[in-house]
Amino acid sequence: MSDHLTIVDHPLVQHKLTLMRDKTRSTAEFRQLLREISQLLAYEVTRSLALGTKTIETPMQTMQAPVLEGKKLALISILRAGNGLLDGVLELIPSARVGFVGLYRDEETLQPVQYYFKVPESLEDRLVIAVDPMLATGNSSVAAIDLLKQAGAKNIRFLCLLAAPEGVKRMAEAHPDVPIVTASLDSHLNEQGYIVPGLGDAGDRMFGTK
Ligand code: URA
Repeated sequence: MSDHLTIVDHPLVQHKLTLMRDKTRSTAEFRQLLREISQLLAYEVTRSLALGTKTIETPMQTMQAPVLEGKKLALISILRAGNGLLDGVLELIPSARVGFVGLYRDEETLQPVQYYFKVPESLEDRLVIAVDPMLATGNSSVAAIDLLKQAGAKNIRFLCLLAAPEGVKRMAEAHPDVPIVTASLDSHLNEQGYIVPGLGDAGDRMFGTK
């Protein structure tokens, strides 16, 4: 594990991930597990958020109590599979601002094609967490982060469920300043650009489209 890549090895995360990988898991179960696991991953990706203090009155006395500092963070879902991670993270950080980057993967070239981009204002003053369950070739993740940087984002983290070594390498080369948090670094990509052993097409599995 490097500074650039954090693998969340918490037993609950690993157990839930195994359940999700199993091809016999139903769509409803897959979605519920994704919601649960994304909250645990959100806990890790927000670990170093800056804290300030504010004065409050407990029933016992006045105290200086820790509170999150700075502008509300921005969660950016890389459509469409990012929405599966987004829901769980939002439950943990309900006041976060939310943006969407629409990219689809051309199945022949494996290159990302943009079709939607809408993000919160003042990105430059926010911690930006881009979410996409599968870091495969890294092409769409790199393209999404290019767009976020063009929109002003300076402090970006990338949250995914599974990563392939190829995608991690591509991200480290293109965006060494963007730390990645994931539940697993899998073995490799197959010829179609799917993560092996992986869990198949995350979008299809969470939305039941296949
Ligand atoms: N996208 C997916 O949904 N699954 C993969 O294995 C790779 C990219």
